[in-house]
Amino acid sequence: MKHKLGNFTIIVLVILTVLVWLIFPPIDNGSENFTRAYVGEILGSLLIVLMSCSLFLSTRPKWAEPYFGGLDKMYLTHRKTSTSAFLLMFVHLLTVPISTTNLRLGNYLAMISFLGIVAIVLPTLAPRIPFLNKLTGNTYEGWKKLHRFIGIFFITGFIHSLTIKGLDAFVAINWVQIFFIIGTASYLYTEVFGQFFKKYVPYTVEAVNHPNGATTEVVLRAKKDPIQKQRAGQFLFVRFPKEKALDESHPFTISSGPREDVLRVTIKASGDFTRHLFGNLKAGMDAVIEGAYGMFDYKTGGQKQIWVAGGIGVTPFLSFIRDMDGNLAQDVDFYYTVRHREEAIFVDEIEAAAKKNPRLKAHIRYSSTDGSLTVDEIMKNAGGNISGHHVYMCGPLPMVQAFEKNFLEAKVPAANIHYEEFNFR
Ligand SMILES: Cc1cc2nc3c(=O)[nH]c(=O)nc-3n(C[C@H](O)[C@H](O)[C@H](O)COP(=O)(O)OP(=O)(O)OC[C@H]3O[C@@H](n4cnc5c(N)ncnc54)[C@H](O)[C@@H]3O)c2cc1C
Repeated sequence: MKHKLGNFTIIVLVILTVLVWLIFPPIDNGSENFTRAYVGEILGSLLIVLMSCSLFLSTRPKWAEPYFGGLDKMYLTHRKTSTSAFLLMFVHLLTVPISTTNLRLGNYLAMISFLGIVAIVLPTLAPRIPFLNKLTGNTYEGWKKLHRFIGIFFITGFIHSLTIKGLDAFVAINWVQIFFIIGTASYLYTEVFGQFFKKYVPYTVEAVNHPNGATTEVVLRAKKDPIQKQRAGQFLFVRFPKEKALDESHPFTISSGPREDVLRVTIKASGDFTRHLFGNLKAGMDAVIEGAYGMFDYKTGGQKQIWVAGGIGVTPFLSFIRDMDGNLAQDVDFYYTVRHREEAIFVDEIEAAAKKNPRLKAHIRYSSTDGSLTVDEIMKNAGGNISGHHVYMCGPLPMVQAFEKNFLEAKVPAANIHYEEFNFR
């Protein structure tokens, strides 16, 4: 229940905003457009509340993770609040009465804010539209750089609301100003001041290994104090400041066990950064780490568990396995599925862990020869009924979504299905 409190709070804030406007309505100015202006201002206020929630979530507040179910889920909420604000912006624009003969500074600011937000948000919602790709260079880093300007248009939007001749609603306007302050402070923290407060911890690359032809295992040792004690299954953000192409902060699961005195991340070469890393990262290079984040933790699940890893999604499970010491307290069926034998990594270690922990059953699956894994098969192996099992999944989004649907059909309660989001856009 605790992990739903974050989203619940946002819904309550939205409802409260409407209530504040209804309980403390603006003074009727007798204008024929009064009702439209009133509704338009309620919509504009909701827009500011939702955007300030989005900006707040972008600060990556570690303390808030338990209330959302982890940082990856906070990003999902961020995406939802941003999308809702984006849609509300259009409805607000269509609702408020605008005089085309007497345009004021506030109207121009509204236009700047509107166009700026559209230019930034559209490439996120529709990344495949060719002319929008030009704004981002069709890369994540390009998209991230563009995204950085969103706060400026948020502030412009709010100044617009102060400079137009709005309705006289003292309480409601002050209520909304609280969110403007939260949103602006969050934005400034993310883009300017955060670097002075956040913990960026210096590490050195101790070793670089290649468990197969497309994967890099990076072993990292703290230069002084390591990052805060982490749990198995958490992730970090890492960048390598001395190599220009690797000086971008990217998220990776910590694949080592929490008791190891080094950190290991296991990275599949999939795009510009990860491919460059595969060919160019060397032992002795500097690394900067932020973390650990995430709530993907099998120890909080029930006695009977099913783990499903697809491809590089094996990394949190490697961390789980490296955390066991022959004393696994749950009964686990672990399915690790890859297309070909050459793609599978650390199979010997997984099989050795299964020998050492009698309650862990490892099922390594090569889909090109064995066929695709199905929930029916998982159910059969588990004795038929899996409605009381806890499921942990990590892998490509379409795979996770398809399995989630099938597990729900197999009567596994939604609350028992846990997965790691590998996409922060
Ligand atoms: C919580 C989490 C844990 C992850 N753990 C692992 C892991 O253990 N091993 C692994 O190989 N991969 C992991 N990933 C995925 C990894 O972060 C991306 O594959 C990598 O950042 C891709 O970068 P790229 O430039 O090579 O590829 P690109 O082609 O530029 O990016 C591919 C996609 O990766 C995502 N991405 C790219 N850059 C970033 C960034 N800076 N921040 C957030 N997302 C980004 C975007 O969705 C993008 O569309 C994890 C992702 C998340 C969110």
